[in-house]
Amino acid sequence: MKILHLPSFARFAAVIIAVGAKSSRGLGLTGESGTGVIGGVDLLRAVSLGEDLEMGREIVVIGGGNVAYDVARSVVRQIAFETARTAARLSETANVHLVSLEGEEEMPADTIEIVEGDEEGIRRSNGWGPTEVVRSEKGEVTGVAFRKCLRVYDDERKFSPIYDDNEKRIIPCDTVLLAVGQAPALSFLEDGGQDVERMRGDWLKVDPLSLQTTAKGVFVAGDLAHGTRLLIDAVASGKAAARSVYRYLTGETLEHELVKTHVVLDRYRRERGYESIRRVEVPTIEPSERLEHPETSSRSGMARRSDARSITLLGLRGYTGF
Ligand SMILES: Cc1cc2nc3c(=O)[nH]c(=O)nc-3n(C[C@H](O)[C@H](O)[C@H](O)COP(=O)(O)OP(=O)(O)OC[C@H]3O[C@@H](n4cnc5c(N)ncnc54)[C@H](O)[C@@H]3O)c2cc1C
Repeated sequence: MKILHLPSFARFAAVIIAVGAKSSRGLGLTGESGTGVIGGVDLLRAVSLGEDLEMGREIVVIGGGNVAYDVARSVVRQIAFETARTAARLSETANVHLVSLEGEEEMPADTIEIVEGDEEGIRRSNGWGPTEVVRSEKGEVTGVAFRKCLRVYDDERKFSPIYDDNEKRIIPCDTVLLAVGQAPALSFLEDGGQDVERMRGDWLKVDPLSLQTTAKGVFVAGDLAHGTRLLIDAVASGKAAARSVYRYLTGETLEHELVKTHVVLDRYRRERGYESIRRVEVPTIEPSERLEHPETSSRSGMARRSDARSITLLGLRGYTGF
């Protein structure tokens, strides 16, 4: 079911909207609108649905987070797949350049993404902010203009970039992929949901405690409620929204109890001092093999030990976050 418009809520005692935030955000650069510039999550959606992609061979990915790496590494795999199919050499065809505003140390992407991205041949430039998508007279993308970024965050860790306009460069390309954040797609609110007020841009005004919008009986959950975070946050906010709806409908507060218990599983043993063991690096297969067979993975006892530790940590986070 796709929500095309928000019908009168008179038929419903309460509604929770949880449509996520899966539209790529733009930067409003000169030359950004038009062919050759694709939203990162739009590309990922097309890849996962097996849709044909109109992409060139010289690709610039703008962004320095995990989504930027999901995008860049998916493109490298797409190109490797095409290359294997047409028996061309990878090095002659793949040119994916990831450009991040942040320096390497400050990049929001996980280190493993950066390291494996480097191994897979993604070129990386740190400390550059885009100013324009350069187009030819015919309107084709020919490059992206950047200026040096001297600082991204201020002393209070607020996003407040400072640029050096004397240091500029153009990275030639024919395709630009934007991975600089996502926003929700809420056009369905224009028809019937006008009392659901917006806060800034495409986000809604939401009471952070009750998760209720400005419209009576309309609640939100997931990324739409708190901005883009992790799956576990979306699950937690879904539960919080359900409790709020219960309170809204019955006038009673649904108390949630934090139960701490230690269950010993018979067949599950951990070595002594497990919690203090450093995370083990997960062995990976050779980059070339990774690209040709993205579905292959390398598992070992060490990797499983590391996975188990991550799962424990994730479980703990989910537990306390509810
Ligand atoms: C590229 C990428 C990689 C990520 N990787 C990770 C990760 O590794 N680990 C992690 O924890 N988190 C990851 N996240 C974040 C995670 O995906 C989100 O935080 C989480 O999915 C948010 O859940 P949600 O239910 O709010 O929204 P979503 O999971 O986006 O679900 C929204 C649902 O609403 C539907 N919908 C949208 N519009 C309409 C409409 N008009 N009518 C009807 N249905 C509609 C959609 O089809 C979808 O089913 C990633 C996000 C992205 C973009």
